[in-house]
Amino acid sequence: RQPIIAIDGPAGAGKSTVARQVATQLGLVYLDTGAMYRAITWLVLQKGVAIDDECAIAELANQCKIELTPSQTLQSPVQVWINGNDVTQEIRTIEVTSQVSAISAQNAVRKALVKQQQNWGKRGGLVAEGRDIGTHVFPDAEVKIFLTASVGERARRRQQDFTKQGQPEVSLEQLERDIAERDHKDSTRKISPLQKAVDAVEVQTDGLSPSEVAAQIVNYYQD
Ligand code: C5P
Repeated sequence: RQPIIAIDGPAGAGKSTVARQVATQLGLVYLDTGAMYRAITWLVLQKGVAIDDECAIAELANQCKIELTPSQTLQSPVQVWINGNDVTQEIRTIEVTSQVSAISAQNAVRKALVKQQQNWGKRGGLVAEGRDIGTHVFPDAEVKIFLTASVGERARRRQQDFTKQGQPEVSLEQLERDIAERDHKDSTRKISPLQKAVDAVEVQTDGLSPSEVAAQIVNYYQD
């Protein structure tokens, strides 16, 4: 099996940019698991299914087809598809972002998506990022990284992302509140809460550029 590098951490810690750079440098495939939870959330909202209708959501999760393909644009590292719809942009809206924690806390949703992720990872060769990769999805990953950054720093990064994506401006205060709330929801939920794996290396990224963080991870991998 080829190696798997697991990168976990809270919203806005820089996981996507860093994971993509590490994947490119090592010739591995980049897997954005958050995009999968966002895609199913988009589908639930688009179908008008109630967030607490766990049965209907379980059915959607079990039957949906999610595809992640390399992106041609700089705005997004991967193109995200669900049931044939390109939802690359739609999954980044505030609406999806505010509901994704509630949907990803549902058992059936996690079961369906984790199974898909483990299938993709059977032969290894992945840099996978999310919340439960080192603890749950790939507990045998060769390298486990837990990325962190202060709430203020993470809000600033999110604001830059929105600007780059041409989305309406959101205040830093609002973003800090959203991030703190999502941290709380992601780390207090009953199943697969955001947690640092006991054997993960913690990297605090305040003041570090994505390439500096990526270089550190590539070093851990090569040591
Ligand atoms: O990483 P990103 O911010 O795109 O993830 C969106 C949301 O998806 C997270 O806030 C979390 O609720 C959920 N998620 C998860 N497990 C993962 C990845 C993301 O529950 N492995």
